[in-house]
Amino acid sequence: MPRYFCHEHPETLTVQTRVVDARPGAVALEQTPFFPGGGGQLADRGVLRWNGGEVAVIGFEPGDGRLWHRLAAPIEIAGGVEAVVDPAFRAMMTELHTGTHVLNALVYQQFQGALVTGAQLNDDGTARMDFDLPDADNDRLRALEPGINDLVRQDLPIRYTYVPLTEATAVPGLIRSRSVAPPPGDDGTIRIVEIVGLDRQACGGTHLASTARSRALKILKIDNKGRHNRRVKIGLHG
Ligand SMILES: [Zn+2]
Repeated sequence: MPRYFCHEHPETLTVQTRVVDARPGAVALEQTPFFPGGGGQLADRGVLRWNGGEVAVIGFEPGDGRLWHRLAAPIEIAGGVEAVVDPAFRAMMTELHTGTHVLNALVYQQFQGALVTGAQLNDDGTARMDFDLPDADNDRLRALEPGINDLVRQDLPIRYTYVPLTEATAVPGLIRSRSVAPPPGDDGTIRIVEIVGLDRQACGGTHLASTARSRALKILKIDNKGRHNRRVKIGLHG
């Protein structure tokens, strides 16, 4: 899990930067405000602008030690550019992602430390989380909705720390995914997201500064997708 500019500067959605490497239809930048996707959160969208030009950024891929920004046209650009994240899309992903943490916290607490087996955020304001919950009653899961919204209204602050991976794996629940531990950054640490008073877990995504900045959440659907995949679909209100 590399450290991204957006981790340290979540409010900075436009940066003036330079192309450090280019090929037709892709560039690597000296500095990038984009979240490139991961952990179920969709990659940012946005544009690059330069003297007289603008092109949409349509995806990201790591390669040659760089983060390549894939462009909507097979052009090769150089020099100074302005990199601009789509603010509405980032805001919605951040809000929804924060909601998945609140859901995840309650499932972990109320279902004996049940772990996550999958997560996917969607661009329509919904998300699904899969949990390892072989024996849980779906009505008990549906009944989490008022508790989720109560925690949202409490406006719990959200903050970050970095801990060595060996330390993180020693604390039960800090790595919430059943199958994968997030890779550490270059310094061997992983990023821990804390919803103060509620939950701590490793995550590299973007989150609100406090829970009440989110709209209310709905539990839309619960499906049994196999013994280790109880799928809970949530959505933002309105
Ligand atoms: Zn997260």
